[in-house]
Amino acid sequence: MSNVSGASNSSSHVRGRGRTYVFGVPKRCWCGEDIVAKNSHSDANPCRRYVRCGYAYAKKLENDNHVFKWVDEALLDEVEKMKQQIGMLEKNVMVELEKKMVMEVEKELCEKVEDVKSLMQARMNKMLIGIVLGCMIMIGIVKLVG
Ligand SMILES: [Zn+2]
Repeated sequence: MSNVSGASNSSSHVRGRGRTYVFGVPKRCWCGEDIVAKNSHSDANPCRRYVRCGYAYAKKLENDNHVFKWVDEALLDEVEKMKQQIGMLEKNVMVELEKKMVMEVEKELCEKVEDVKSLMQARMNKMLIGIVLGCMIMIGIVKLVG
């Protein structure tokens, strides 16, 4: 079954674009046909599961560019994709956490600054009261002595 090297045969579905790599488990072939899942019976890959373009499978096409993929490889792809997604999620969570922490620290700092301000204010007031009281006592003593 190798009529590929022959002169231009007019099989309309084989175009010169090569088999495009589909990530993960393909849902549909580029030609619009549904994907079928089958078990391989070849000597090289006995009972290995694969997915194939329904059209190409029905016509028993070979050396075509319709979807063909080993299911275990497709599943590996899916696992890789999931790993990447989890990695992204982890990254996002970390970024969010960092943002939150920065915000919290900023908030805390603001509160601390306010605390220090009011503390200083209270101390200043106490000092002022002390000074005023001291002055009054001094004046009183001076008056008493004088
Ligand atoms: Zn197809």
